[in-house]
Amino acid sequence: AMRARKNDRLAMESELRRALEREEITILYQPIIRLEDRAIAGFEALARWDHPRMGRVSPGEFINIAEEIGLITDLGLFLRDRTARQLSLWQKMMRARNPIFASVNISSRQLLRHDLIHDIRTVLSRHAVARGTLKLEVTESLVMENPEHAAQMLQRIRELGAGLSLDDFGTGYSSLSYLQRFPFDTIKIDQSFVRTTQRGTRPVILKSIVSMAHDLGMDVVAEGAETDSDAIELYHLGCEFAQGFAFGEPMDAASAERLLLDEHLDDANQP
Ligand code: C2E
Ligand code: MG
Ligand code: MG
Repeated sequence: AMRARKNDRLAMESELRRALEREEITILYQPIIRLEDRAIAGFEALARWDHPRMGRVSPGEFINIAEEIGLITDLGLFLRDRTARQLSLWQKMMRARNPIFASVNISSRQLLRHDLIHDIRTVLSRHAVARGTLKLEVTESLVMENPEHAAQMLQRIRELGAGLSLDDFGTGYSSLSYLQRFPFDTIKIDQSFVRTTQRGTRPVILKSIVSMAHDLGMDVVAEGAETDSDAIELYHLGCEFAQGFAFGEPMDAASAERLLLDEHLDDANQP
């Protein structure tokens, strides 16, 4: 069984190397909603690998492999470039007062590499998007691996005009003092804090995280909002934004665009 698993892994590695050329990697967009008026504020770009034989491989599986085999730089560049291009098209199409944003996940190995700065500069010069609306999502544990270096990289990324979201907040072992020094504009609170407990209450900590984020001048996105009552309660707790199945699962670009256009038409029809 061990040998079979090893062979699977090797096969997966060589398949992944070819996946980019074969255009098997696609991006799904999950809406992030402004709770005040339930409008679409932006999207999170989530990678999918559709292999002709293996079927759909989750990012949890293949991002790790891409990091280990040194493919993450190319893959990351591809994902950021595609997302920025899409965002630019949508912003032109909507011409809204509040331009929508798109956030892309950055994996652990990437933040520690200097070519990330170069890549982001390239992507931002290639696609016209409103300042701060292409956001990078970075996880807490990643930032805490090397806080000094991370702080410098994040500062430079911010200066280039990208936004920064702290992803899965609450799952790592963050030092609150560092949080003050990192230039994040948004905190994404992990699903585990957003879910109700077995007793039907939401973790008390949620309220404190929201007010701390606001004191630090950051917006709050609650992850994993699955029901309408989640959304209502999150709004009353002061979260600006929510993301989750209550507002839509990750969807292809065409479906995301339809959602945007429908909303736009509704607005135009309002008296
Ligand atoms: P994440 O950034 O925290 O993304 C949120 C995950 O939660 C997504 O899973 C999304 O589909 C799922 N989700 C959203 N709403 C709900 C909900 O209401 N309930 C539940 N139970 N789940 C919900 P996904 O797409 O499988 O991505 C998993 C993780 O893989 C992401 O976590 C992110 O860390 C990573 N990932 C995804 N795409 C990329 C990528 O392009 N690059 C990198 N480096 N990592 C990625
Ligand atoms: Mg994320
Ligand atoms: Mg997350």
